[in-house]
Amino acid sequence: MSRQMIRIGWMLSVCSLMAVPLHSQAQDRPRKPRVIAVGVNGAEWDIIRPLLVRGEMPNLARVIARGVSGKLRTVSAPNCPKVYSVLETSTPPEENGITGFVVQGTTATTAMLKRQPLWSLLSENGVTVGMANVPATFPAVPVNGYMISGMLTRGKYCQDGLLCSPKLSEVEGGDAVYPKRLEAELQANVGDFLIDCARMPGMKDLLGQEEKALSAWLAQVSRTREQQAQLFDYLLTTHKTDFTFLVQSCEDRVGHWLYPIQPFNVGYNPKLHNLKVNAFPDQYRALDRVLGTVLKHVDEQTTLLILSDHGIKPLRERESHLAHRDHAGTTPIIAKHDFEDGDDVPGLFVAMGPGIKKGARVMGLSMSVYDIAPTVLHIYGIPAPKQMKGRVLTEIFETQLRKAADDVSAH
Ligand SMILES: [Zn+2]
Repeated sequence: MSRQMIRIGWMLSVCSLMAVPLHSQAQDRPRKPRVIAVGVNGAEWDIIRPLLVRGEMPNLARVIARGVSGKLRTVSAPNCPKVYSVLETSTPPEENGITGFVVQGTTATTAMLKRQPLWSLLSENGVTVGMANVPATFPAVPVNGYMISGMLTRGKYCQDGLLCSPKLSEVEGGDAVYPKRLEAELQANVGDFLIDCARMPGMKDLLGQEEKALSAWLAQVSRTREQQAQLFDYLLTTHKTDFTFLVQSCEDRVGHWLYPIQPFNVGYNPKLHNLKVNAFPDQYRALDRVLGTVLKHVDEQTTLLILSDHGIKPLRERESHLAHRDHAGTTPIIAKHDFEDGDDVPGLFVAMGPGIKKGARVMGLSMSVYDIAPTVLHIYGIPAPKQMKGRVLTEIFETQLRKAADDVSAH
């Protein structure tokens, strides 16, 4: 079978689920295991760890203490669309088709995905799926539940879908929401929210008014996060699904330009980098509050996964920072994640829930972004399809579940 036929195959099988009522489980407790995955764009342990020590991320600290935590190995030259597509398919970017923000001159879309993603596999197996703001899920596609697109959503003032921030009402070139009727409901109950975080203003808008321009941009970043948190709360309250995947993308965006660097770092500009030294750590303090909102929906029977696609570090390789401009082309970035060696910028993995070890830490880089889809499938008792390159993370489970995982892998 050709790749194209395989893709059409899984797209059609999910389309046949379109008739599933959105409210089927709104009132009842889901019968299947419940998993809530929170994706954080570029969560960086180097910034998060000191905040944990200082007690400034109490919700994350609580989850770490009650679960398993560690680094998550990522791919080489990681970026969000690339890694999220690996998380979803457990196949390499060259195989699944999403090799970056832009694929052969066009911003990546769900139509380019050549391998069956987690959302489709779960849907086919009767698991209800809810997704919001996951990168590279535009246009939204049918699932056994709902999907609200994230990074790479196109819209007015954001025609290329790259690092800009369309409101729900401004989306163009496809649907941001599946099923379509959910859109009006979200407008009525959550409002006209911003789908992604916008890029920092270019140098011409910053020069001479750095303080004012940065404050205005950071205020918009906060607004985006607050609206996303409100969206997550609404969805988790009124559209409970077995598997829910929610992603926030503002951390990474702030880190690229406002990582708290020192005078010896590459790209240091005292006019800019002395101004908002707390802007990046503040993103994680804010993320922790969002986590608090999500935790209201996590009971003893719910598995909570907190993941990131990669970390982010200040520039420190023999490559000119001048080559790393933002997409407006005028503001030098000072931190990045697409280092050739992905092991320089591992992501984050935290898991808590029934059958998961408590207070355990996994050292080294044995857990990978490839392992997320097989591990989620395992929780639902669904064997990972052959094309998946990852494994079930058996080491995070207590002995009994670990054995069950080994049995599934052996089949
Ligand atoms: Zn990312």
